[in-house]
Amino acid sequence: EYILAIESSCDETSVAIVKNGEAILSNIVASQIKSHQRFGGVVPEVASRHHVEQITICLEEALEEAGIAPEELTAVAVTYGPGLVGALLIGLSAAKAFAWAHGLPLIPVNHMAGHIYAARLTQPLKFPLMALLVSGGHTELVYMVEDGSYQIIGETRDDAAGEAYDKVGRVLGLPYPSGKEIDRLAHEGEDIFHFPRAMIKEDNFDFSFSGLKSAFINLVHNAQQRDEELDSKDLAASFQASVIEVLVTKTLRACQNYPVYQLIIAGGVAANQGLRDAMQQTLEEQMPDLTLIIPPLRLCGDNAAMIGAAAHVELRKQHTAAMDLNAEPSAAFQREVV
Ligand code: ATP
Ligand code: MG
Ligand code: FE
Repeated sequence: EYILAIESSCDETSVAIVKNGEAILSNIVASQIKSHQRFGGVVPEVASRHHVEQITICLEEALEEAGIAPEELTAVAVTYGPGLVGALLIGLSAAKAFAWAHGLPLIPVNHMAGHIYAARLTQPLKFPLMALLVSGGHTELVYMVEDGSYQIIGETRDDAAGEAYDKVGRVLGLPYPSGKEIDRLAHEGEDIFHFPRAMIKEDNFDFSFSGLKSAFINLVHNAQQRDEELDSKDLAASFQASVIEVLVTKTLRACQNYPVYQLIIAGGVAANQGLRDAMQQTLEEQMPDLTLIIPPLRLCGDNAAMIGAAAHVELRKQHTAAMDLNAEPSAAFQREVV
């Protein structure tokens, strides 16, 4: 089974060929970050225009690199949401045109399911499992009893973890997106500011990062008013220590409360080295039998290979879509078929 997958939900145009939901034959990713940086965030109109320019090039490259002809494909998969509506529509149009031209079934894939299934490109999954989804727009704990079944047991009440990283980075004068740079700075600093660990003691699996963000911004602004400059490395280290302690503590508790074989960390923030190390160390000490799966860095950020991996599950359940498939900017895990 060969699936051609397309991802265009935000600022990465990507096309991949994935075999049996587990092997990457090609995974072309065209990032637009440079075009958005001078605006300090993703500009939807700019994103759409770049997707239009890149999508055909990525598609041709993905087929060529995989050495696969369209006639050998089983299906075409595409992200239908969540994401920016204009950006999603470019991927959807390309996927429909390609599927129509080659007589292939069209598989709608949820972007967040894609982030989770990036894990299957690393090793086989064993259910039930827990997934911590940490990305630019989401922070969720998802319990899965089987393929394609998603139960959100906890989520952020306000900002997503990646969003907090990017907002705090702006105050430090770092270019967007700033998660990677804060991660690097954090390793050279110390947690001397002791920011609050929001909701860490509460008996639920929810998160909150807006209080931490405000505490950080107030600290920096107050120092500026006194003409005092705080050390960016210590600020980064203190911010990251708070984020990581909350994520690790709540995720560990979730894994202790549900009968799981594996824990997947997925999404852009899963690239965070501090989080990866802390999670691994905590599990080794507290739950040595639990298998931790964190995809390699290139599969943590947005890419089409993860969409191809998730599509394999949808195809087996015969979840295909008609040509009137629409974009769903705030899609939930289960797609409503109307
Ligand atoms: P979503 O997946 O929720 O729709 P998105 O696709 O925009 O949102 P991703 O591409 O999955 O988000 O992740 C991007 C986010 O990951 C950005 O907020 C970025 O700052 C963050 N990020 C990337 N690398 C790191 C890192 N090393 N440490 C912390 N955050 C990081
Ligand atoms: Mg992105
Ligand atoms: Fe994403």
